[in-house]
Amino acid sequence: MEMKGNISIHAQNIMPVIKRWLYSDKDIFIRELVSNGCDAITKYKMIKGETGEDFRVTVTVDPEAGEIRFTDNGIGMTREEVEKYINQVAFSGAEEFLKNYTSDDQSGIIGHFGLGFYSAFMTADKVTIDTLSWQENAAPVLWESEDGMAFTMQDGGRKERGTTIILHIMEEEKEFLDAFRVRGVLDRYCGYMATPIYLEDLSPKEEKPHHEEHCDCEDCKEPHVHGTDEEEAEEAKKPINDTHPLWLKNPKDCTEEEYKETYRKLFHTFEDPLFWVHLNVDYPFNLKGILYFPRLKKDFGGQEGQIKLFNRQVFVADNIKEVIPEFLMLLKGAIDCPDLPLNVSRSFLQNDGYVKKLSAHITKKVADKLNGLFNTERKQYETYWDDIHPFVKYGCVRDAKFYDLVKGSLLLKSTAGEYFTLEEYKARNEGKAEKKVYYTTEQNRQAAAVSLYVNRGIDVIVMDTLIDMNFMSFMEFGGGNEGLQFVRVDADVSGLTEDSEEGKDIDQAQMEKLFRDALENAELEVKMEALSDKELPLMLVEDEQIRRYKEMSAMYGQDFAFPDKYTLVLNRACPAIRDLAAMEEGEVSALLCKQMYDLARMSSRPLEAEDLKAFISRSNELIALLARKA
Ligand code: ADP
Ligand code: MG
Repeated sequence: MEMKGNISIHAQNIMPVIKRWLYSDKDIFIRELVSNGCDAITKYKMIKGETGEDFRVTVTVDPEAGEIRFTDNGIGMTREEVEKYINQVAFSGAEEFLKNYTSDDQSGIIGHFGLGFYSAFMTADKVTIDTLSWQENAAPVLWESEDGMAFTMQDGGRKERGTTIILHIMEEEKEFLDAFRVRGVLDRYCGYMATPIYLEDLSPKEEKPHHEEHCDCEDCKEPHVHGTDEEEAEEAKKPINDTHPLWLKNPKDCTEEEYKETYRKLFHTFEDPLFWVHLNVDYPFNLKGILYFPRLKKDFGGQEGQIKLFNRQVFVADNIKEVIPEFLMLLKGAIDCPDLPLNVSRSFLQNDGYVKKLSAHITKKVADKLNGLFNTERKQYETYWDDIHPFVKYGCVRDAKFYDLVKGSLLLKSTAGEYFTLEEYKARNEGKAEKKVYYTTEQNRQAAAVSLYVNRGIDVIVMDTLIDMNFMSFMEFGGGNEGLQFVRVDADVSGLTEDSEEGKDIDQAQMEKLFRDALENAELEVKMEALSDKELPLMLVEDEQIRRYKEMSAMYGQDFAFPDKYTLVLNRACPAIRDLAAMEEGEVSALLCKQMYDLARMSSRPLEAEDLKAFISRSNELIALLARKA
């Protein structure tokens, strides 16, 4: 009995929209058809239980016939079912889809769900359903359509229970007749589906493309070698997917090696992650997943993590920022959220209570992991810190809730390579660094200034990543650390001064004039202090806030020349300064002023070429002078 007809009225409106819209992401027809096959098998198993049959979905690429075929041994469909599920319903999420797509929100629908079977028409100019239902006495059905709108339906000849969907691929979509191309899509979207999936490549041997050097398959970030024909034949006997992804298992049944292996497989890498968080919630919502902490590069600008979102083992998309807190985007991993409404627009998800709970839960779990490591494996945690601190700090700056959760586990790394919490730092430096944390941005260049503090028994913290400046401001103003100040070692001498009478009689104004004249700098500010290190004649300091402001504007590309604001601090406890003060103003005093000034400059940054030349010739002059005296 043959029947012709038109698919429900909606389809005619929707098909052109889908075709146009999906243009950028055609690959998903493979996901949709494979997942329908998996669903059909799941349904069959629900009715019959595990029958011991070899349940599988096979994707056959047949370039000679110009076809891709999707075969499953699931429940199949009766004529009535084809009529009901294919001809009439047409789209499971059709109305929703059309509403979202035609609304103002053009950002797309998460995961492009709800297109299902009809996505086949994205790449096919003829689609055939060849199916036989599991039900006793069911007749096989053969359904065919060229455009997804008009169809024919007749008795089929199929003998085995199940369904084959045959796509005759359009001329302009021939790329999908390359098994290698299909394999890439299967790996990406079907790699963790619940039923074994096999890829069968019927292309004639000699025509099989060799992908020996590297390929540009979807998931391949790095070039890698693909196997020989024999190896590929061997591979074809194995399912392309892992039907039991680790994240669906109970954490207590997972080994460390399994976690690492999953990571390497998910991200095609040989690297190991630092550690991970296994998300495993059934109530009040369903969430499974593993988040890995990768090794971050020092300045993670441009670096992106990758969190793969799954829906019941079907891959949906990477980095859905509506679901995963933004700062966690530096992590890598996989999460499966079966209850996530995926055929809705992104802006809907952003305001969805369920999604908010989900993302709050993820944040909390990540914080728990950090706190757990801090509390029980402090030493181990410290070894991770160098790698994870940019992420943790970034998280604090971006998300006040995260900061609240982890603030007790934030570490400061000292120039001596020790790690302290803020509280520990305060306790260690009590009486020496009240409410101040001294830090360096460049341990080598600022070595001289650093050692002044270290020699006084004050810990100096290394703050040398891009995020540190933001982090320090955050700690000072937003972190609830009242009065806390981060001070760079060359910004201040308050930690280095002493209550001493020495040199108190030196006239500040006179010294200022002496240096101003010698350096021909009428703006120079000079201060007198007694520094604990009596050997050190002077220091050049630059106001912390002004310097930060300058650095910030430079970072954001602003270019108005902010005036330098240096202060020269003379150490009245240093005999050389007292001698200089007592000296008659003249050529020698001018030489000394210049030389001292350059030395002070050099302790925070190298001199420019011209200045260095002047410094060297002045040094020679001083040597000659001394030698003559001796
Ligand atoms: P969804 O999978 O979201 O229900 P689809 O458009 O993908 O929507 O499929 C529509 C319906 O067609 C399915 O719900 C199922 O009843 C039927 N169907 C599609 N493919 C198969 C298959 N391979 N075996 C059995 N039934 C199928
Ligand atoms: Mg489907």
